[in-house]
Amino acid sequence: MRPFDYQRPDRLDHAADLAREGGKAIAGGTNLLDLMKLQVETPQTLLDINRLPMAQIAETDGGGLRIGALASNTACAVDPRVRRDYPVLSRAILAGATQQLRNKATTGGNLCQRTRCYYFTNIDQPCNKREPGSGCGAIGGFNRIHAILGASDECIATYPGDMAVALYALDAEVEIAGQRGSSRTLPVRQFHRLPGDTPQRDNNLEPGELITGVVLPPPRAGKQLYRKVRDRASYAFALVSVAAIVEMDGDTIRNASLAFGGLAHKPWHDPRIDAVLSGARPSDALFAEAADLLLEGAEGQGHNDFKIPLARRTLLAVLREATGGAA
Ligand code: SF4
Repeated sequence: MRPFDYQRPDRLDHAADLAREGGKAIAGGTNLLDLMKLQVETPQTLLDINRLPMAQIAETDGGGLRIGALASNTACAVDPRVRRDYPVLSRAILAGATQQLRNKATTGGNLCQRTRCYYFTNIDQPCNKREPGSGCGAIGGFNRIHAILGASDECIATYPGDMAVALYALDAEVEIAGQRGSSRTLPVRQFHRLPGDTPQRDNNLEPGELITGVVLPPPRAGKQLYRKVRDRASYAFALVSVAAIVEMDGDTIRNASLAFGGLAHKPWHDPRIDAVLSGARPSDALFAEAADLLLEGAEGQGHNDFKIPLARRTLLAVLREATGGAA
């Protein structure tokens, strides 16, 4: 690990100033410290934001729930309001990492975690994300965990998290603080980026901006599911995951909101899938149509070809469970 300066601001505006000057925010450090040890990340200044008052989970005036950026993953997953009203979020968080990591990992940090692409974390290998213009070791290399949707010629990495997949299904918003007291809100579905020709950028945070919280909308009716397919039963990233919120009205789907993990550089949400399901009667043909929409344009890279049928089967299984089975 390379030497670095260490700052502990206790005011948000001071933290934003230091971030604009190049300080790298650290909270739980469950991803960043690993990357620093590997010299994938080499910040000049570490900006410890743990003194900022951003760990609260509180109800909003609009009937939703605001989760502070520094609320730990454990605190969020076990919060009685989250378990009761947003079980897809609790289940997604508990499907990730280990208890020790969830105790330290934070809501803001979880959103900003970086890909686990093998070539990204090995500084002896080419990687456009780590070093723009150096090439992509995964294209033509070993790419079992890589993207089948939304990839580019520059990068085929996947976003590794679970929590954000549930937040996409919930259509949450991200609160962001900028310079001189400015703030903005971004729909979480617009927070992460596809790689395009700038794979070094994982998300749409601008330099100097910090996440301050995540706002969940008022609870939705219906069944909430999170299904994660992985190589082992715990402490493994998703090969495919599905977060689903499905409300039935008799034998018809009243509303559906689905998001997918493990498939792309960002959690995947396709509004056409929600639209085709909402108002329709469950059937194998309907579920197949939803899967066709999901996998339209899906492309394997060789070792990860299996993800295409796996994503289809996982989606069908989730829809059958959420609707009580096909007609
Ligand atoms: Fe780097 Fe992306 Fe290629 Fe992985 S897939 S080596 S992160 S450019």
